[in-house]
Amino acid sequence: MNRKSPFSYVCNACGRCCRDKVITLSPYDVLRLARAAGITTREAIDRYTIRRGSILKFNDGGACAALEGARCGVHRGRPLACRLYPLGIEHDEDQERFVTLEPAAGSLGVYGIDGDVSDFVEAQGVGFYLEANARYASLLAVFRERIAATADFDRVEPREFWRRAVREALAESGYDANPLIDAMFDAGGIGCAAIGDAETIAAHLERLAEMIRGESNAELLAAAAVMLAVSIGQGPAPAHTGAEI
Ligand code: SF4
Repeated sequence: MNRKSPFSYVCNACGRCCRDKVITLSPYDVLRLARAAGITTREAIDRYTIRRGSILKFNDGGACAALEGARCGVHRGRPLACRLYPLGIEHDEDQERFVTLEPAAGSLGVYGIDGDVSDFVEAQGVGFYLEANARYASLLAVFRERIAATADFDRVEPREFWRRAVREALAESGYDANPLIDAMFDAGGIGCAAIGDAETIAAHLERLAEMIRGESNAELLAAAAVMLAVSIGQGPAPAHTGAEI
């Protein structure tokens, strides 16, 4: 589907969609979660996420860590994926494509065609989230440049180098310390207040770019680049992160 495709959805706040999901978070999602909950980004990471801030946390019973009864406890700062639901967004080159996701079992949400996709995504306030992700995507070029300057591909086979980076970025536990990944999700931890507006993003991007340019460990840079690409919906493909394969 594209933005002109007929679509409407009425959420009846049953809370059933907020269970048993895997929801990827971007750095901007974490900023907004923190602001909505009135806590620091570090506290938001600990309270609402797993995998270093990059995945929304669901508890043992299957409910999202932000779910309070049948309502979202961070509604004003709910992540992009939650805003889009029951749509998903895919990017193919520069083309965006929307897909309808399966309704949760017993969901009281009502699907229809009383508008179009554009009406729906606008009403959900996804515009600034997509813009923020596009701004964070600019860091991938900084990563590419720095990885090219620091990786020794005469010594390390490029495919293996990137395989290791993807494995490290997507590991749920047992991963190595990575200050770049920490700084990506914990903007407050590097002195960029968790406000979530354009100035905060600008300050965060500037600080992250400085950190990337000052880092000389290519493996650490590559894992952080993969993590960023995945978190903003570009997937772990080396093309996004600069693999020479
Ligand atoms: S963040 Fe809110 S909307 Fe998203 S899954 Fe959790 S409770 Fe539901």
